[in-house]
Amino acid sequence: MTGENTMQTISIAIDGPSGAGKSTLARSIAAKLGYLYVDTGAIYRTIGYHAFYSGIDPKDEAAVSAALPELHVELIYGEDGLQHMFLNGQDVTKEIRLPEVSMYASAVSAHPAVRSYLLEMQRGLARTHNVIMDGRDIGTVVLPDAQVKVFLTASPEARAQRRMLELEQRGTPQPFEQILKDIQERDWNDSHRATAPLRQAEDAVLLDTTELTFQESEAALLDIIRKRTEA
Ligand code: C5P
Repeated sequence: MTGENTMQTISIAIDGPSGAGKSTLARSIAAKLGYLYVDTGAIYRTIGYHAFYSGIDPKDEAAVSAALPELHVELIYGEDGLQHMFLNGQDVTKEIRLPEVSMYASAVSAHPAVRSYLLEMQRGLARTHNVIMDGRDIGTVVLPDAQVKVFLTASPEARAQRRMLELEQRGTPQPFEQILKDIQERDWNDSHRATAPLRQAEDAVLLDTTELTFQESEAALLDIIRKRTEA
């Protein structure tokens, strides 16, 4: 097809529940390998943020779907190399990290209209770049032909502990029990929805980081990637 980019790209898909360390690990590995890091959770958060500030009930599928045509969601890489999210021309990169927005993102992401609205955006990036993309359905739905698929997980308690430290560092601390409850609720939502539920792809490698430090997790992940891309 004319104009179609036929470059052979490499895709690394990292899926797993909230707080398993996907984004920190993927960002670091992308920098080492010179790949583009795509945080797909940030894209769902952008839609969730719209519902949050517009007073739309995120569980109301009709209301959320009706809002989609008015939304212009862009993923732009800044000079800092980091992924910025723009919503109708406004940089919302910081706002989408508000703890309240997490639950909105989880609720809006259950709607098939939202998922199909964002699908092509994610696939387009993988067609034109070598990517390491993290999310919930990258290996199962978005990039089923990815050369490397990893299902990254850790116990809910370990994930809550990590998220607590992250929120403290960001200056938005929350109590451990609240974080654990939110994580368990999002796990349930993400793995029980009808469309693109969180699950391990059959050809994904399972990596449990409960007992691993960041450095150990990164070494294990790089090892999986090297084995699969050099084969
Ligand atoms: O990864 P993060 O926690 O930022 O994602 C926010 C929410 O977006 C998740 O709880 C999940 O419900 C949703 N999500 C999704 N599919 C993806 C990435 C995120 O449904 N590929």
